[in-house]
Amino acid sequence: MMFKIDGESLFREIKKRRIGKVVLQMPEGLKSHAVDLALFLEARGVNVTIYAEPCFGACDLYEGEGLLIHFGHSPIYGSRTPTLFYEVEDDYDFIPALSGTSSRLPKKLGLLTTVQHVKTIPKVKEFLEGRGYSVYIGKGKGRIRYPGQVLGCNFSAAKSVEKKVDAFLFLGSGMFHPIGVALATNKPVFRCYETIEEVTSEKESILKQRYGEIFRAGDGEKFGILTSKKGGQRRRKDASKIKGMFERAGKKALIVEMDALSEDKVASMGFDAFVMCACPRIAIDDSSLWKKPVLTVHEAEILLGKRKGYVLDEIP
Ligand code: SF4
Repeated sequence: MMFKIDGESLFREIKKRRIGKVVLQMPEGLKSHAVDLALFLEARGVNVTIYAEPCFGACDLYEGEGLLIHFGHSPIYGSRTPTLFYEVEDDYDFIPALSGTSSRLPKKLGLLTTVQHVKTIPKVKEFLEGRGYSVYIGKGKGRIRYPGQVLGCNFSAAKSVEKKVDAFLFLGSGMFHPIGVALATNKPVFRCYETIEEVTSEKESILKQRYGEIFRAGDGEKFGILTSKKGGQRRRKDASKIKGMFERAGKKALIVEMDALSEDKVASMGFDAFVMCACPRIAIDDSSLWKKPVLTVHEAEILLGKRKGYVLDEIP
């Protein structure tokens, strides 16, 4: 994995915007570049601040003075702070892994990836088609910017081609996104990174755990409906709707707003369970960090008898 940040071209972009002070905001995987880049820019007369709070997506932009340079994510929403999105390409080559083991894959494939690998999609498509595969690249909606791109909270690019494919092939490391594809669709999901592995079996254990959380929340009387101040995670309409649904079911429900969401901020308030009306993946991927059940919006609907069957909660 090799991320490329071109300091010279970034400096030219900063100069064009004529703002002397910049703030660098990076996800954890890029923070090791922050100091060298800041020193490079300061040597050219730019006043730099490194913003070090954890950042998991473009749903969470620094707001304040100066020009924000947000690294590693494509835009999701407009901020009051002038922002330059620097998406950061990863030049990882998927072809060696595909050359060795691609015969395991079904013949009709939907290709998916994250923003740092989207430029490699045409090359992988051509390679697979040359070996007799039919390859489909879905177009996403809303916060999705590129064909084939997925976010942890939006799998619309996968759903747009789901009926045409036998399986999805996700290009990239980590399980966060391919597990999301498995939960959002009804097709097998393979992940390609060094090797090819099927991740679909993980779906069953996650669904079992999610239904366990819904069951645990079933005894609750007081529900905290959690919202976030982060610009791309504001879901006040969903929060109001869920609050009303609990109240009509004879339960108590209150909206609680935070910046970063964690249980220690609400642990003493006496809620029996929570509903996550911010990043839906906090409920699913970080549930072990919460003692009380934390449901997604759709899981709360299942609890209240308003929905049958599991649907992954996504943000359009
Ligand atoms: S809301 Fe969650 S999944 Fe969506 S972009 Fe933000 S951090 Fe990622």
